[in-house]
Amino acid sequence: MCPSGTLGREAGWLKYSLVAASSAVLFVVKKNKWVTMSKKAKKSGLKVAKFGGTSLANAEQLLKVCNIVKADPTRRIIVLSAPGKRTKDDVKVTDMLIKCAEQKLAGKSVEKDLRAIVDRFAGIQKDAGVPGDIIQEIEKDLRQRLDSDKSNPARFMDLLKAAGEDNNAKLGAAVFKKHGLDAYYVSPKDAGLLLTDEHGNALVLDESYKNLNKALVGHKGVVVFPGFFGYTKDGEVVTFPRGGSDITGAVLAAAVKADSYENFTDVDSVFAADPRIVEGAQSISLLTYREMRELSYAGFGVFHDEAIVPAVHAKIPINVKNTNRPEAPGTMIVPDRTYTAGDVVGVASSEGFCAVYVDKYLMNREVGFGRRLLQIMEDEKLSYEHAPSGIDNMSVVLREKDFTPETEAKVVKRIYDEMKADNIDIDRGLALVMIVGEGMHYTVGMASRATSALSNAGVNIEMLNQGSSEISMMFGVKAVDRKKAVKALYDAFF
Ligand code: ASP
Repeated sequence: MCPSGTLGREAGWLKYSLVAASSAVLFVVKKNKWVTMSKKAKKSGLKVAKFGGTSLANAEQLLKVCNIVKADPTRRIIVLSAPGKRTKDDVKVTDMLIKCAEQKLAGKSVEKDLRAIVDRFAGIQKDAGVPGDIIQEIEKDLRQRLDSDKSNPARFMDLLKAAGEDNNAKLGAAVFKKHGLDAYYVSPKDAGLLLTDEHGNALVLDESYKNLNKALVGHKGVVVFPGFFGYTKDGEVVTFPRGGSDITGAVLAAAVKADSYENFTDVDSVFAADPRIVEGAQSISLLTYREMRELSYAGFGVFHDEAIVPAVHAKIPINVKNTNRPEAPGTMIVPDRTYTAGDVVGVASSEGFCAVYVDKYLMNREVGFGRRLLQIMEDEKLSYEHAPSGIDNMSVVLREKDFTPETEAKVVKRIYDEMKADNIDIDRGLALVMIVGEGMHYTVGMASRATSALSNAGVNIEMLNQGSSEISMMFGVKAVDRKKAVKALYDAFF
């Protein structure tokens, strides 16, 4: 059904069928670009492109963004973050705003902090060659926010945090206009991006999708939309969790039924392993949503998990791209892809876990043992990550930060008292290492390849769990062995 081709590793690509099937659109790499292959594909002719903080850190970056938008007339809805770090030691505008809000709430002077924020925007304005009145407006806006009601500190904080994106989108639209784009700032309020009133942790209300579709489809020119925040039904500014501009981009893409959601950042693609652990780790050109979810769970920091949910539900292909090298095709994340047996896309790892091992002779005959064990965790407000079980034992993997010594004492006592366990062991300092790939399920010998790689590297496996999704295999190892394990698995499968 799908045309498929294989590009060799020597060409810098993985040896996969580089074809992705989304609901109606097929993609393939041609001349280093993703192009749609299906004649039947129903296209909206719209792409939503989101640019992160490092892509907007100074005028030079913003002008790169302007050129990227110009290069593709279907890039019609642009979501901007606040200016990020210009150098490794720089401070993000959002962090400057948070500090400023905290000072204000503590009754301290904020003049110095305010000046520094205004100067960040002014630097971009000057270097991008747009008139200075926009900076006066930005300063006025910031002062108004700082003078607003502080009776609810969380609400006040959100109002300040949102100022980075809101003013950057206004400045961005002005810069785009000056450099030849017919660009328009659109306010999330006017476009109807309605959120729940959980400050700093808001969720999108369903009606937003309809509102946004109405406001954005057919909008003239290029829409420049601030990321990270929206409004409650009462008209208050409310933000998503940190990094939430990704969520805005995905919501807009779903609302306008975009052909794709492009997420521009400062790396060429998603890598098959953390390049800080595996030097020269290869790029992943194609991933399914499920693979992405498993990888990001186990430590791939590309997206906020929640961020891609709206795009996933709407089956919008997501393209991770690099602002500094827009010619690279990046990583395409799609609903389905063709794959070959044994196909592993990545090795991810994450620290900070612990396991509670519970032994009880004849546990297998006791109806409800697992439920009661997990009920104890629930009563203690512990969210469990995995719960592998054997005939007479069951372990529950938890986040170590939630499992304080006091909680541990309570949980252990309850398991002995209420469940009459024979023995309980607590193993702290664990890391989870995961190999992920759609083709894993259909292949004999994957586990033995992985376990021999780990044993050859001298890594002791504390726990093994083949996810019920069957596209991943998880190994619990001591945190000190994490990097060794990642390297060994990468070498075994790539
Ligand atoms: N500027 C916000 C933050 O730093 C949101 C974002 O960049 O996505 O978290």
